[in-house]
Amino acid sequence: DFVPLHDISVWTPTAGGSEKTVYPRNKKLDNKISLYSGDITKLEIDAIVNAANKTLLGGGGVDGAIHRAAGPMLKQECVSLHGCETGEAKITCGYGLPAKYVIHTVGPVAQGGVGDEEKKALRSCYKNSLNAAAKNNARSVAFPCISTGVYGYPPEQAVHEALATVREYLDEHHDKLDRVIFCVFLPTDKELYMKTLPLYFPAD
Ligand code: ADP
Repeated sequence: DFVPLHDISVWTPTAGGSEKTVYPRNKKLDNKISLYSGDITKLEIDAIVNAANKTLLGGGGVDGAIHRAAGPMLKQECVSLHGCETGEAKITCGYGLPAKYVIHTVGPVAQGGVGDEEKKALRSCYKNSLNAAAKNNARSVAFPCISTGVYGYPPEQAVHEALATVREYLDEHHDKLDRVIFCVFLPTDKELYMKTLPLYFPAD
């Protein structure tokens, strides 16, 4: 029941666009973005991103799902990494996952509210994950909605940091990646991404 890249539909910008687009169209980015609704552990792509905690030893939410699906070898490799700081990213093999790599990144805890520090850290998660992918020749990467679960970052704020960071990265490095997949798990996040994607990846 794995989902190969060719079964993940490309997100096509809608013509007409929105009045409040943040960036102009970049045709080089057409066919490079996907919105996928479902379990990130099923994706048969180069790399999936894990919203991990600083220990990198597993946890709940998407982290737990990834460790369960990958099997105990993943934890073994994670032990050898000796943790990860907020905003940083570390790459491992995918083991029992259909994805070749897991990129573990630690999102900011935003239960005390979102300030500049949390924003910056969330952007770093996306940017450092993309850099880790490119460095390892991983050309397809899927992101969960980092920090918006247990870490309490409001999804309607996080989506802007996620999309802006990916847009800015791809504007500069479109040749390094074939596809960036936003993997949403909750129906409310799917709606939010469908509404917000046209602002960052418009048709015109
Ligand atoms: P964080 O601690 O960074 O907030 P969570 O795992 O609690 O991380 O939540 C991050 C997001 O991952 C949430 O939107 C949650 O719904 C989503 N999520 C949980 N399980 C999965 C999964 N198997 N695949 C993709 N996304 C998932």
